Amino acid sequence: MSYLFSGLWHFAAAMAFAVAFGVFARADPTFYLLQIAFLIPLVLSSSALFFVPERYAKKGALKFLHYPLPDWDVLLLGPASHRNWLTHSAFVPLSLLGAVWKWPHLAHIPYFGPVVLGFCLGTGSHLFWDCVGSQRHKIVVVPYWFALREGPSRLYLLAGAVASLCVGGAFASVQNLGL
Ligand SMILES: [Zn+2]
Repeated sequence: MSYLFSGLWHFAAAMAFAVAFGVFARADPTFYLLQIAFLIPLVLSSSALFFVPERYAKKGALKFLHYPLPDWDVLLLGPASHRNWLTHSAFVPLSLLGAVWKWPHLAHIPYFGPVVLGFCLGTGSHLFWDCVGSQRHKIVVVPYWFALREGPSRLYLLAGAVASLCVGGAFASVQNLGL
């Protein structure tokens, strides 16, 4: 099945999240969208390059740019693992938060703030749109053996989206990150 339309919706959700976050944090809808260091991780983790035609997207490393970070479960673990519990969670934002907690000097790396915020909002918007925008829901814990039912899967995705946004909010409240 083509990822084009699903990718387009994920892209729209990411843009909406970025605009809303800009209004909320900076009273400026385009404040974050105009920063390329924010935009690249936002797109990579929400929709990726969904517009690349399928015949190119299946080849080599390009497929990792065609599918967003949470959907790499298909590429790394196979189609039976789609909506894997780890990739469809706030794992990446929480890991980034944990990393800067343990190694505070990471915050001094140029563009660290916009990059981590991009991953937080991108992951959050992806999980949110997976929750509300798709008809089938199944969070896979162990392929062919254990998956969450529809209701708990929706809740799991929503909780991941909220957690990702909260981590983004926490980063934005740190003064020296320039967010
Ligand atoms: Zn997904």
